[in-house]
Amino acid sequence: MNSEFKNESLLDFSQEANRTGQLKALELVQSQLGRQYDLIIGGKRLKSSKTFSSINPSKKSEIIGVFQQADLEQAAHAVDAATHAFEAWKRFSAQHRANILFQVAERLRARRLEMNAWMIFEVGKTWAEADADTAEAVDFCEFYAREALRYAESQPLTPFAGETNELFYIPLGAGVVISPWNFPCAILTGMTTAAFVAGNTVVLKPSSDSPAIAAFIMNILEESGLPPGVVNFVTGAGSVIGDAMVQNPKTRFVAFTGSKEAGVHIVEESSRLRPGQIWIKRVIAEMGGKDFIIVDEDADLDEALTGVIASAYGYQGQKCSACSRLILHEKIYSDFLQRLVEKTARIKVGPSTDPANYMGPVINENAMKSILQYIEIGKKEGKLVAGGGPADGEGFFIKPSIIADVSPSARIAREEIFGPVLTVLKAKNLDEAIHIANDNEYGLTGSVYGSNEGHLRKAKEECHVGNLYLNRKCTGALVGVHPFGGFNMSGTDSKAGGRDYLMLFTQAKVVSEKALISG
Ligand code: NAD
Repeated sequence: MNSEFKNESLLDFSQEANRTGQLKALELVQSQLGRQYDLIIGGKRLKSSKTFSSINPSKKSEIIGVFQQADLEQAAHAVDAATHAFEAWKRFSAQHRANILFQVAERLRARRLEMNAWMIFEVGKTWAEADADTAEAVDFCEFYAREALRYAESQPLTPFAGETNELFYIPLGAGVVISPWNFPCAILTGMTTAAFVAGNTVVLKPSSDSPAIAAFIMNILEESGLPPGVVNFVTGAGSVIGDAMVQNPKTRFVAFTGSKEAGVHIVEESSRLRPGQIWIKRVIAEMGGKDFIIVDEDADLDEALTGVIASAYGYQGQKCSACSRLILHEKIYSDFLQRLVEKTARIKVGPSTDPANYMGPVINENAMKSILQYIEIGKKEGKLVAGGGPADGEGFFIKPSIIADVSPSARIAREEIFGPVLTVLKAKNLDEAIHIANDNEYGLTGSVYGSNEGHLRKAKEECHVGNLYLNRKCTGALVGVHPFGGFNMSGTDSKAGGRDYLMLFTQAKVVSEKALISG
């Protein structure tokens, strides 16, 4: 009998032991930078004719690792390997699969500081952000392992005289997991482990901005006893091999997290029947957000200020749940904005290896260009009151920026920027604030700060987002506590870390046996 699921607690880096431990892990990982990694298909290490490098966004000249650029043939080979492995893996008991996943959790927990260090180097997460990412990955393993056992239990059906009826959740087949760089450990681990613990096999294609982190997880999966071919590791361009694997008729499902553009494209491509295909592909797509925080006239402004800073600038605003629209009641607009500008100006930006920095770099050059362009657009659409350009250093550093007095129809109020840029809008009252909040194609997260019970009740009913928070920040969903996923263009309405999630990786089979009449 397993203990009840509990979230991992986060490390407190003001404690000497944790601090020293993290520094040592950074040293260890630093000594391993620049290595070359192989594809892993059917348990075999393979090279490609081309490679690409992953770099440190805090220090552009530092190479994190060199990775294979898989070609189309290798992508097809990986789907074949997963298809082949499925025939054996689907017969493993749920208990056996869950045991492997408990092992994964244990090993990841034991190497937590090392995992954090890879994220600090490869994707510019600060210590605390990296640690939360690793903790979430451990949570996914612990949660989904328990869920697999729950789904394997006898399922309740209405009794029917003369028959024995049973319902089983069986796996789908071989699928492709396509993950983003922004939660390079947690989201990748969550999608991959949910798929295989439910009995499926996987081709894992991580983001080209975070392949070393993915390789670290792959190593843990292998060490935990996952049979060859159950998870295959394929690196390369999403638009080439990702596309090909999505289109492959042997692919039974796609689990994707990333941008709206790529997600919509994957949904479209998956829905087209290809020669030899005998199923309709299942697509689980978790996409972007344009998340909001509403501050009502009677809110605790200190609390709201803390929540806005954490939600807008934690991990440089590069969370799908990040607050990018701040909607202030007109009565507190000027006062709150002034305090926010002062607090924002004090945020330290710099290399994420230095724990004194609250913000590290943005992920890469394209992101930097795109965010700076949005700031330029914002300067025309509103009033720049904080930040507004690059910050000093060898990395992709951007000052935390605020653009105030923005109209709800402005581009910076409607499009996902995915960086440390906060758009501020004014509302006459809560009704107007909710209207502005909902008037967007996304529907991922939102927060409302206020003390009027009636207003909070109204917000609870009217705000159309998958994850609504009252009087707390709009980031930091916890596995099991806050099942996570959005509406509309934010995805296919799934809830990662929730009790419905594993069902997405299964299909239900019903067996009805009529009692034989003896004699
Ligand atoms: P992205 O869409 O650029 O890439 C995501 C993954 O898709 C990568 O592995 C990429 O290689 C692959 N890809 C790209 N084009 C593809 C194609 N044509 N076919 C197959 N695969 C393809 O996103 P990103 O920049 O890595 O991540 C940031 C985005 O992810 C943001 O929009 C953010 O809001 C979103 N996100 C959403 C959630 C959520 O839970 N809703 C969580 C995290 C991130």
